[in-house]
Amino acid sequence: MRNFDFTDEDLLAFIGSMDENQALKELLEQSDSADVLRQAVEFVRNFDSFPAEAEGVMTEFLDDICPEQCEGCCGNIPWSEMAEAISNGGYCGHCQHRMEAE
Ligand SMILES: [Zn+2]
Repeated sequence: MRNFDFTDEDLLAFIGSMDENQALKELLEQSDSADVLRQAVEFVRNFDSFPAEAEGVMTEFLDDICPEQCEGCCGNIPWSEMAEAISNGGYCGHCQHRMEAE
């Protein structure tokens, strides 16, 4: 399992906007821990920090849904591109653009 640090601003922004993305929202709702996750997203949006009691659940969820690296270039996917990567099958913004251009 990867180690997620919830103090990172980009990661918090990603978590806070989770239910604005249809694909992410569906994954969240399908999770066994949907209630805890939904509350955590709400908490991040309101307080700009992560609730400690939900950390384990969120770590597991993120580990489950986030591609560890880009399917195309094997590079790390930045949090700002993660929602897109989850929707497009695990590609970073750069590879996504390249595929669209081809
Ligand atoms: Zn890539």
